[in-house]
Amino acid sequence: MKQDWIRQGTCEDASAAFSEHGQTPGRYVALLRGERCQTYEGFFSECAAAFQFPGYFGSNWNAWDECINDLDWLEFTSLAIVIDRFELLFSKEGHLARDRYLLEQSFDEWTRYWQEEKGVSCFVVAFSKEKLVLPRYVLPERLNGHFRITDIITRSDTVLTGYLECCGDRAFEVFYDAKLKRSWIGEYSLYATARGLAFLARCASCGGEIRLLNCRREEELTSAIPHQLFCPKCGKNEFALKVSLEYPSDAAEQEETNERGEAFGWIWVAASCCACGKELKHLVVFEND
Ligand SMILES: [Zn+2]
Ligand SMILES: [Zn+2]
Repeated sequence: MKQDWIRQGTCEDASAAFSEHGQTPGRYVALLRGERCQTYEGFFSECAAAFQFPGYFGSNWNAWDECINDLDWLEFTSLAIVIDRFELLFSKEGHLARDRYLLEQSFDEWTRYWQEEKGVSCFVVAFSKEKLVLPRYVLPERLNGHFRITDIITRSDTVLTGYLECCGDRAFEVFYDAKLKRSWIGEYSLYATARGLAFLARCASCGGEIRLLNCRREEELTSAIPHQLFCPKCGKNEFALKVSLEYPSDAAEQEETNERGEAFGWIWVAASCCACGKELKHLVVFEND
């Protein structure tokens, strides 16, 4: 979504936008009032009212996703969502940065779905009393659809943390081109060799591969990834992978989405063995340059 979908403005500005959209023939306009959306529960019931969700709507994110992409019960040729007091949205839930980021992603997918799949124009506009700029961080493209964000911390830079997911699960086999070393306090970490460092996660159910890192020398980029990770405690080979990406504040200024996604300065990967729970907390600590 473009940066300007959140504007500085009052409830009156939002009402004005609501009636303006309403004047377009065939447009269904939903008004969401930030004051009623301070919790997830509130957001769900506000959406249910504004979009006349059916009685079976389950007040959770999956159900929300399903309903907002269905809307079979409404008549329209185009859609608009107007939000007032956006600064209050999810303000009582305690994960403000993450929730706003995820909401933006959802709206982004939503508008794209209706426009591209259904040929229905979609508009989302929000008004905030205070000037509000969402952090513009995007994930590396290869993680799209495979990364469940659990936390976003924004100080001078932004750290996105989440788990790799595939097939609704978090079990991956891990392959690497690096040197696995055990430190004197017993921590296992992967170190770049002269070839560089590569790290690949393979979904334990479908075999789909996520090339998390391939920071090897140009001529090594396509070569096979030689080593597989086995749990040092139980010898098994499936791990849950928690990944943190740190984006410096200027990463948001990159023009291309792809470049923006790759602009992280550091990446951390922690693995925990699916069989015995052994944690490799600092498996990868890597500066991306
Ligand atoms: Zn899979
Ligand atoms: Zn184990």
